[in-house]
Amino acid sequence: MKQVSDYHFYNWGKNCDCRPCNYFQPATEDELAGIISSSSKIRLTGTGHSWSTICLTSDSMVNTDLYSQVISLDKEKKQVRLQPGMKLWQLNNYLDKEGLALENLGSISKQSVAGAISTGTHGTGINYRILASQVEEFTLLTANGDRRIIHCERDKEMFDTAIVNLGALGVISEITLNVVPAFCLREQSYVANFDETIEQLDELIQENDHFKLWWFPHSDEVVVYRYTRTYESVNDSRLRQWLMEEVLSVLVYRLFLKIGQIHRDWRKNINRLLVQKFIQPLDRIEKSYKVFNVPEPPLHREVEWAFDLKVARELLQEYKRMINSSKHRINFLQEIRFSKADEYALSPSFGRDSIWLGAYNADNYGWDDLKTDFESFARGYKGRPHWGKEFTLDADYLQKAYPHFDRFNTLRRQLDPQGKFANDYIIKIFS
Ligand SMILES: Cc1cc2nc3c(=O)[nH]c(=O)nc-3n(C[C@H](O)[C@H](O)[C@H](O)COP(=O)(O)OP(=O)(O)OC[C@H]3O[C@@H](n4cnc5c(N)ncnc54)[C@H](O)[C@@H]3O)c2cc1C
Repeated sequence: MKQVSDYHFYNWGKNCDCRPCNYFQPATEDELAGIISSSSKIRLTGTGHSWSTICLTSDSMVNTDLYSQVISLDKEKKQVRLQPGMKLWQLNNYLDKEGLALENLGSISKQSVAGAISTGTHGTGINYRILASQVEEFTLLTANGDRRIIHCERDKEMFDTAIVNLGALGVISEITLNVVPAFCLREQSYVANFDETIEQLDELIQENDHFKLWWFPHSDEVVVYRYTRTYESVNDSRLRQWLMEEVLSVLVYRLFLKIGQIHRDWRKNINRLLVQKFIQPLDRIEKSYKVFNVPEPPLHREVEWAFDLKVARELLQEYKRMINSSKHRINFLQEIRFSKADEYALSPSFGRDSIWLGAYNADNYGWDDLKTDFESFARGYKGRPHWGKEFTLDADYLQKAYPHFDRFNTLRRQLDPQGKFANDYIIKIFS
């Protein structure tokens, strides 16, 4: 185990930081259990890829980088058991070598498996639930030293309440995931008119295995991403990938961001130029995890909320109207994704097929105003915020938004009566 006494924690977005009094990196479950019993207060962190203040603490912080191995693989059952700090990208590579894959993924794979599960991280596809739905079983070390194994069917009520847990119930020390045979995705992406695309939204959502939209604000177009699951061979060119994923998406995009910093009003035209001149139609087949994931984005801020799919069309039309008629000058894509309804108490997709709308911006200037406007818009549509992205910690609103909120809080009080795992974020949400 490693231990640092003067550690300065920053999250990926560099919008929040803290100085825990102790920073532990255990390498075994026994070491984890030892930290729990000897500390009065603890917060866990995976890779710090949350924009919210979810990880922050001045007490002990436990990072799972050294506790991140595969424990076992059952190829027949297609189940992999692993330590919680394993990164999704490490798991993708491991599974690929075994001819297996995760069923669905978000836009990046830098996060730890436990971190992604604990915040309700999601990908896109109306027939696919959030990433936590791939969990068969997990082990939770609780404040009083218990080691509980929670299975998705045998302990259904407990599992559904605890799987999206914000790190508030204890420490996940092992996870068993269901995986699928390795597959490819055929990506068909192109630029289309925003309003016309929204007219066809229902068909696009239903007809594609995975589907998302990127809207660059102030433009009249959207980038449409349609993905079909396939076992056909990979046909994507390495040169194209290098040009798109390392030159255009990284270097050219960052150059445009810099130009947009000189004069914010230029962002309207920059976004239009990007969409109309730089994003070309694409039809390719590539391994699933390489298509689900996008190139590492530049530093930026994010809010993202989930809404009932039934309001999708109106939501998007209104959002475009609101942003275009506002003072905001956004220099980053706005992301629109979908997920299937689930039964997890703290999942933003609880009980309803969902559309996720994310407002992103690579600029701190004006961010608080954008966040405030987005939140009042999102509340008007009865949205639920992503726990790992920025949002106002308003217990009253959250309690109304999540029908099983109290069930989670009761379990939290039962498993952690002294608040060993509660930081300010948890206290504000559940006070
Ligand atoms: C560039 C970028 C892209 C992203 N893309 C997506 C996306 O496509 N879809 C999406 O939904 N989200 C996305 N996110 C958000 C991200 O997936 C979540 O914030 C996720 O929780 C980060 O994982 P992490 O390992 O960094 O966890 P951290 O941020 O370090 O921690 C998150 C929570 O997990 C808890 N935790 C960690 N390990 C354990 C453990 N062993 N036991 C108990 N609790 C634990 C922590 O206490 C904390 O509450 C993105 C974030 C970034 C920065």
